[in-house]
Amino acid sequence: MLLRLPTSVSEAQEYMSEGAVPIGGATLVWATWQRDGFPDHAMSLRELPEANTIEREALGAAVVLSRIDDRVPEVLRRAAAGVGTGAVRRTATVGGNIVGSTLRCLLPAALVLDARAVILEPEGVAETDLAEVLAKRHLLLSLRWRTPVTSNYVKAAAEPGGPSPLVVAAALHSVDGGGTLLRVAVRSEDEVFSESAECHGPADTDTATATATATATDDILRTLWNGPLGRLPASARELVGRQVTDLLAQAADR
Ligand SMILES: Cc1cc2nc3c(=O)[nH]c(=O)nc-3n(C[C@H](O)[C@H](O)[C@H](O)COP(=O)(O)OP(=O)(O)OC[C@H]3O[C@@H](n4cnc5c(N)ncnc54)[C@H](O)[C@@H]3O)c2cc1C
Repeated sequence: MLLRLPTSVSEAQEYMSEGAVPIGGATLVWATWQRDGFPDHAMSLRELPEANTIEREALGAAVVLSRIDDRVPEVLRRAAAGVGTGAVRRTATVGGNIVGSTLRCLLPAALVLDARAVILEPEGVAETDLAEVLAKRHLLLSLRWRTPVTSNYVKAAAEPGGPSPLVVAAALHSVDGGGTLLRVAVRSEDEVFSESAECHGPADTDTATATATATATDDILRTLWNGPLGRLPASARELVGRQVTDLLAQAADR
């Protein structure tokens, strides 16, 4: 196997046209390749600056999960910190997790940030949404988003031999023209559900009283249950309710 290490986007484009298979930390592909045979060409983005950025509003696809720190929003940092073991996090990459893994702990976090995917296509660099990246398995260069007002993430404890643990990600965003928008994404049994709700009134202001905030939170949760999150089992809805309540209280305290 010839491993390509492009240092520029044009080089990556050239290797892509030669059919080089993207590779991150190889935590998933190695076993498969040993069993089924190695590809002729593979390409790692670890020497490509565009894929190694860690900024307030951008994260490169070649960044290994253990390098993700408080430069990025809390929801993404916590999602990365909760993946597998320390050894996996020191090797696995953002691109491998979002595009290549089935668990995809980073996906709910990226969804609530309303992240856009910067991808490399044969014609050059383009931007698209995460759904398209997953459907077409594009070569991911990086993720970009706008900093939220606040965000949070929780991963339930895994039961040995059970389904993948429940993940709840939430972020509150300022909306142009005023107000805020809450985005919630949940991974439940390998399926990812997401929904958003506009926040009006007390949960959205710093003069909220406890009662008025609780009423506004109930209204927001009702909106969420009217969408796909309403199909979640009761235990998952309870966790979503707790995360949303905490997030809105956190926003009101700011
Ligand atoms: C012990 C263990 C525990 C784990 N626990 C968790 C967990 O709790 N949560 C979780 O989410 N995951 C978990 N994982 C999965 C882990 O996140 C993945 O192994 C990892 O994210 C894959 O990353 P990688 O960089 O090693 O990908 P690789 O193995 O290198 O590649 C995987 C796939 O992604 C593709 N790919 C890689 N980079 C890109 C790119 N930039 N653009 C497009 N495609 C790309 C490759 O072509 C390949 O098909 C666990 C894995 C292990 C081994």
